[in-house]
Amino acid sequence: MNHDLPEDIRALQSEMRTLATGPLAGSAIERDRDAVFWAEGWRAAAEAGVLRLPVATGVGGRGLGLLATIVAMETLGRHCDDLGLLFAINAHLWAGVIPIERFGTEAQRATWLPGLLDGSLIAGHGATEPEAGSDIFGLRTTARRDGDGWILDGVKSFVANGPVADVFVVYATTDPSKGELGVAAFIVPKDAPGLVVTDPLDKAGLRSAPSGGLRLERCRVDAEALLGREGDGAACFQCSMEWERGAILAMHVGRMERQLQEAIAFVRRRTQFGRPIGSFQSVANRIVDMKLRLDTSRPLVRRIGELKDAGRQAMLEAAVAKLHVSEAAVQSSLDAVQVMGSRGYLREGVVERDLRDALGARIYSGTNEMQRVMIARLLGLPSSLPTRRAAAGDSASGGPGAEA
Ligand SMILES: Cc1cc2nc3c(=O)[nH]c(=O)nc-3n(C[C@H](O)[C@H](O)[C@H](O)COP(=O)(O)OP(=O)(O)OC[C@H]3O[C@@H](n4cnc5c(N)ncnc54)[C@H](O)[C@@H]3O)c2cc1C
Repeated sequence: MNHDLPEDIRALQSEMRTLATGPLAGSAIERDRDAVFWAEGWRAAAEAGVLRLPVATGVGGRGLGLLATIVAMETLGRHCDDLGLLFAINAHLWAGVIPIERFGTEAQRATWLPGLLDGSLIAGHGATEPEAGSDIFGLRTTARRDGDGWILDGVKSFVANGPVADVFVVYATTDPSKGELGVAAFIVPKDAPGLVVTDPLDKAGLRSAPSGGLRLERCRVDAEALLGREGDGAACFQCSMEWERGAILAMHVGRMERQLQEAIAFVRRRTQFGRPIGSFQSVANRIVDMKLRLDTSRPLVRRIGELKDAGRQAMLEAAVAKLHVSEAAVQSSLDAVQVMGSRGYLREGVVERDLRDALGARIYSGTNEMQRVMIARLLGLPSSLPTRRAAAGDSASGGPGAEA
């Protein structure tokens, strides 16, 4: 498929391969074991311009668009061992940088984008709460006006980059009676009075991407912290999810390609019963299935890039891609572990980590069950979920698919 890509995107692929096999080379086994964020890798990626890829040139980005960024993430996922680092980069981009670029005022962009784009600042995304996960617009964090600022109260959980982030995009309701229309987004610096970042969570996978919680206890932010207008929170969240669901999965596509190549090499090399194990049909079938999953996943994520770059909505395509690619990544990792036998089960074998990393993809950016709910709704089927919208009607987000 790469020969279908324009010349500039193929050049970017080769740039990303050089980054991944140079400054980002090496094993992530120890960082995974110790759950350590790779600050040096972050800086190397930032210096190589990865954090600026999809952002408009007018605000300091490279203006390469989403398809190019997706292909870049595929390439990094193929060649860089640390999927945690790539996840942290994606969380920063889609849940921090893009909302500020798209919904921010000129002053907000001027304040935050330079640091977020050169990597000196890291962004986190506070939407999920202990009692509001899939039902994201049932969130309980409140925001009320206080003079010329705002007071935020609530708890956020599972914030990717939380323990290392400098700034958060936090979602809160200014008026619970308005449902989704009462949600607003705020830019909250980590040193805002009343903000407590809680300890890193001990996750199964993506362990080098630290996640934590936020406690907002009478947390005071300036009037300029409001991102967009009051009531724009749902639209901001949807925008970030639409981009994220496609692009964050691209790294798993790259990883599936690596697994396939390594699994082929392994089953050709490993002999049992005097023959390469790849000659046994049930082993070969797993390899064939890995190839099928890779070849059906790649076009789905790239299609989102093409649609967004053409200025079109991709809510349905993003949900389909998220669902298919995350399931494919888990199954591909399982197959890779299985064909490698006991070697695949060892930490040093890498594919067991791929499996743990891939499991998260079925949950983050909205669980796969919720992607199915969303796809069914976007296909026009009636929904059994209670609406979170106010009587006035749909939000400015332009339709269904609010689930986190
Ligand atoms: C690696 C990782 C990173 C994350 N990063 C962030 C982040 O940066 N910021 C952030 O805000 N959140 C983040 N999250 C949280 C994530 O968005 C939530 O975990 C997710 O939305 C699900 O919420 P929950 O965990 O509370 O599960 P629940 O909503 O409690 O769901 C539990 C189970 O019930 C199912 N379920 C619930 N409702 C329905 C329904 N109506 N129909 C069918 N099934 C249903 C779910 O699919 C799931 O299987 C992250 C999660 C992970 C794993």
